[in-house]
Formats: sequence, structure tokens, C-alpha cells
Amino acid sequence: MNFSDSEIVASVLSDIDYCSTKNADEADIVFVNTCSIREHAEQRVRNRLRELKLLKKQKPLLLIGLLGCMAERLKTKLLDEEKCIDIVAGPDAYRNLPDLIRTAIEGKKAINVFLSPEETYADISPLRYENNGISAFISIMRGCENFCSYCVVPYTRGKERSRNAETIINEATELYKNGFREITLLGQNVNSFKCQENGLFFDFPALIEKVALINSSLRIRFATSHPKDMSDELLKVIAKYPNICKSIHLPLQSGSNNILELMNRKYSRDWYMNRIESIRKYIPECAVSTDIISGFCSETEIDHKDTLSLMEWAGFDHAYMFKYSERPDTLASKKYKDDVPEEVKSRRLQEIIDLQHSLSHKSNKKDVGKVFEVLVENESRRSKDFLSGRNSQNKVIIFPRKDFIPGDYVNIKVSRCTSATLFGEIV
Ligand code: SAH
Ligand code: SF4
Repeated sequence: MNFSDSEIVASVLSDIDYCSTKNADEADIVFVNTCSIREHAEQRVRNRLRELKLLKKQKPLLLIGLLGCMAERLKTKLLDEEKCIDIVAGPDAYRNLPDLIRTAIEGKKAINVFLSPEETYADISPLRYENNGISAFISIMRGCENFCSYCVVPYTRGKERSRNAETIINEATELYKNGFREITLLGQNVNSFKCQENGLFFDFPALIEKVALINSSLRIRFATSHPKDMSDELLKVIAKYPNICKSIHLPLQSGSNNILELMNRKYSRDWYMNRIESIRKYIPECAVSTDIISGFCSETEIDHKDTLSLMEWAGFDHAYMFKYSERPDTLASKKYKDDVPEEVKSRRLQEIIDLQHSLSHKSNKKDVGKVFEVLVENESRRSKDFLSGRNSQNKVIIFPRKDFIPGDYVNIKVSRCTSATLFGEIV
């Protein structure tokens, strides 16, 4: 999501004649787009600011701006703590950047952390400045009001709001005309998308169907889905269109009912299992990935085992796995004690990672011998003689280069695998 926001920022800045560079040494302004989800993410930003402070010593006119969640969370405190920062802009303040830059050029500190209940940047065409020309992200909704007890997002990104459907369909159509072959619809809870315009109501199944109909050779992905809104209606639409990718990211967080309740996730273990059963019923070939948090407040060994058993039952293809990190101002930080010792959190996380590693390997082994349609994306990182792309299930497949170029579709028969990658031959 931050990547997509950076493209909006780049677009706003290009209107006042700034262009992007990969080289901080030649920049007039460096913006750091930040995430506050875990303490570790904020620590990395602090380290980056230390480097930029040194650069500013050599280039006193350099401006440094901090964008995104950390800007929103810490507000003016950041200007006190990090003297090198000139501009602080929260996630809903990017239209205001030209004014903020002018203020900073005059030598004054500039800040806007106003959270808007309406801003969706729907009319700003993102500048896709670091893009392979094949895959693009489209932000379709912003903010979140689910208030999972561990999560800082509702405080840093504000109210949930959906973009106007017509602007999304127009943006996707334009991308297709410009040669893009894969778009990912993005939102904190992408499947909770809702909008009403000209008397027409669009929910996520209606929107994704419209986007799929733009062209059958435009692949559609979406992330992240909340289990509470993973309806059968949506699954039927995914099943109906071959160009809607058969890959669903459905964060579980914990397999224990007690912990799910404390997390305020709004579903139970049984509800989650029922959603997985529905996915398997309507889309048997669908890959399912997830997010897991280990060591949430009061998590017992039994709760942890419940997570492991549910992971095994679901047979996730892939997972992002985290240690619980207490975030200031969240419900959990106010109501519960972060009482699972660090070494227990680490050990449980390692067990979760080890299990996922074997589940991913098992899932990949099942693909050996199968033929997949792959969208060619890049040269393989290891060798110029090989290309890399992904199948509908979002698995990376490496295959011989031949005459294919990025954006082509090619059928590949998988011949071998590791737990992370499939390798195959052209058929
Ligand atoms: N909106 C999405 C995900 C948002 S954040 C959802 O609800 O699933 C991405 C992931 O970061 C979350 O799924 C969760 O696994 C993790 N996360 C969020 N807050 C965290 C915290 N305080 N500690 C550890 N992991 C966290
Ligand atoms: Fe955070 Fe929960 Fe919202 Fe996801 S749904 S962004 S985890 S509050």
C-alpha cells in the first residue's frame, strides 16, 4: 500500500516539475514513506534518517520529508526528535505537498497530518515510476475501522472509504491500453469495498467483475481480504473469470478462539475454516496465503498449538509470519499485558515458520508435472538465460528464455521445485 501511495506522491510532485531519482546524492528532496505496523518498521526508518542526516551535512539545502503512518502517529513529536526532518505529511495530506515544500524552502518546518474521511486520490493518476510496465497496483479503498486490538492502522490511516468505481475501471482500462497485463486491487480490507454512484451500488464482487471484463488477457489480483467479507458471492465471481487470479490472501492471525476474540478479529476458528471450505468448493485450484501473529497477549501453549493445527488443516501455500509487537495507543496496549516472554514468542514464531516452510514445499511438490499459464515478468535474477513469471496462484516459476518478452503469456510444465520456487519447461 505504501508503494502505491508513493506513486501518488510522485504524481503530485511531477505536477510541480520534480522528477524521481534512485540516487539520493542528486536529490533536492528525499521523502521517506513509512509504516508503523511493527516497532521494527519504525526502527528501520530511524536508521534511514540517520543516514540522511549525514547526507544533509554535505548538502545543506537538501529537504527531508517523512510521509505515511509514522508521520501520522508521531506528528510534531517527529520534528522535535529528528531535527533533520523538514516536512511531515500524513497519508491524507499528499495533495498539500507542493505547499509544504514551499514552506520548507522558506526555511520553516512544514507539517500536515490531517486525516480526511473522504480523500481517496481518485482523480490523481499515479506515476508508476519504478515499474516493469506489466504489473501495476490500483488503490481502491483507504483506511480501516475494524480496530483489531493489536493494530495501529485505524489510527494512522483513518476512516474506511472506498474510491468511486468508475475511476477504478477507467484507470484499469488505461493501464491495459498502455500494455499492462496484471493489476492488483489494493486496500486494507479490499473485499469490504462499497460505493454508490448514479443510483448504482457497487460492492467488491460487482467491482472485480467489471474490472475482469475489461479484457480477458488482463490478470486481476487483490489484497488484502478480511475473512468476515469473504463471501460465497465473491468466490463465485472469482471462479467464473479465468483472468481473476486463483490466489487469495486471507489473514488468519491466530487459530485460537480466545486469542481471536482478544484480537477483536470478528470471526472464530470455525468461521475461518468454513471460509476455507468454501474456497475449496468453488475454486479447487485456488492458492491460499495468510498472515499469522505469534505471542499475542496471554497466548498459551494450547492457543499456539491451535494456530499450528489450523495452519496444517488449511495447508497454506504461503504466509507472512510476525512476532506480536505492542503498538502505542492500540486497544491491546491499553487493555492487555504484553506478557508472553520474548524467547517464547521467538520459539513459537520459529515453529510457525518451520511448519509453513514444509507446507509451502508440499504445495509446490504437488505442482510438479502440472502445466500453468505464466505471465512473463522479468529476467531470472540468477541467469540471463532464464525468465521469471507467476502463475495464477501467484507462485514464481523460472523457465528458459527462448524468444519471450515481459507481458507474454506462456504455458510452462513444472519439472522441479524448492519450497519457494517452481522451475519448468515451455510446452
Ligand atoms: N488489513 C489486513 C492487514 C494489515 S497489516 C488484515 O486485517 O489482515 C498486515 C499484517 O501485519 C497483519 O495481517 C498482521 O499479521 C500484522 N500486524 C499488524 N499489527 C501487528 C502487530 N502489532 N504486531 C505484529 N504483527 C502485526
Ligand atoms: Fe489492522 Fe485489523 Fe484493520 Fe487489518 S483489519 S488494518 S489488522 S485493524
